[in-house]
Amino acid sequence: MKTVIIGDFQQKVDELLIRHRSILDSLSKYQDTNSRVNRAITKTVTTCGCLTVNATRQDIPKDATFKDYKQYMDSHFNGNLCENCREIIESKIGDNLFYLAALCNILDLNLEDILTKEYKKISTLGHFNLT
Ligand SMILES: [Zn+2]
Repeated sequence: MKTVIIGDFQQKVDELLIRHRSILDSLSKYQDTNSRVNRAITKTVTTCGCLTVNATRQDIPKDATFKDYKQYMDSHFNGNLCENCREIIESKIGDNLFYLAALCNILDLNLEDILTKEYKKISTLGHFNLT
């Protein structure tokens, strides 16, 4: 599959989006698609069962250095996504990206610029960008 450049994606969304040109419609669709991503991830545990959740307090040794934190932080889930759940989650994330691009179009924001700025920011802040 050919890799799509994010600017091309944003342009295609602009071409295709007819029904949700209103900022209110796009905001509510963006929020709706976000909840569908969360729901799809939840269903990997509650319906499919390919993932399980086992959450406990993060237990970081007192003498651990900041750089060591990653190895002590638990994701609180076990297992691997099955192919079906992976496809569903990818699809829901795609829908969410569609409405994120739609919002950017309405607000005249360039998604590629935002991504570049964010990349530079996290690259500069490095390990201190935890919160
Ligand atoms: Zn699954």
